[in-house]
Amino acid sequence: MAYQRILLKVSGEALMGDLTYGTDPNIVDNMANAVNSVVQEGIQLAIVVGGGNIFRGIKGASGGMDRATADYVGMLATVMNAITLQDALEQKGIPTRVQTAIAMQEIAEPYIRRRAIRHLEKGRVVIFGGGSGNPFFTTDTTAALRAAEISADVIFKATKVDGVYDSDPHVNPQAKRYKTLNYHHVLTHELAVMDSTAIALCKERQMPIVVFNLFGEGNIYRAAMGELIGTTVGGSCEIS
Ligand code: UDP
Repeated sequence: MAYQRILLKVSGEALMGDLTYGTDPNIVDNMANAVNSVVQEGIQLAIVVGGGNIFRGIKGASGGMDRATADYVGMLATVMNAITLQDALEQKGIPTRVQTAIAMQEIAEPYIRRRAIRHLEKGRVVIFGGGSGNPFFTTDTTAALRAAEISADVIFKATKVDGVYDSDPHVNPQAKRYKTLNYHHVLTHELAVMDSTAIALCKERQMPIVVFNLFGEGNIYRAAMGELIGTTVGGSCEIS
């Protein structure tokens, strides 16, 4: 088995699909099936979910809101997604726990690192909601932080694109996809993998990141089995 413990980062936008707001139930259901296929292999899976399909702090701030306040609204949005995902997973019979970085004990456990690890060891999928609990951060950085805290083997960044390109493939038809990349190259070329805080943390921890398309058939399972799909950050730079 390639990995024993995986941290999967799913953006809110990915859950939105073609909608302009909220979550697409079909996408959430497909994701639950994909998660099930991985868990059935005995792989431990933790998920950090974003909230961009509902609210982004930066957008709220550009509309005149205080940035920190707007970021708290964004963090609350991630909790809505976490619970939505939990519901879909539990409907498939997958045991789950939601842990939030901002305490709301009526609906979820507070984030407790050792307890999260215990849940994983017992085969429960742990969904981290509420981001890092701090404004001015992102759920990408939360993913890097939680992955380090729970000693995950890898971060899976499931997105709407099939990897990292040397230029925007929508603008440049000659754009080439990287098979592998190193952290330094991502940072210096400002490649859109994760924000720089997240990459810097992964670099320090030598935490590999696999970027792939969430919507490709069986992609989460394939990546979990160690198949080289998308782009892996953590090695040398190689164009596919
Ligand atoms: N957020 C925050 N601190 C965190 C994580 C998230 O303030 O540690 C807020 C921030 O406003 C962000 C919003 O929550 O815009 C939603 O998270 P993000 O944009 O990372 O979601 P995604 O792009 O993955 O859907």
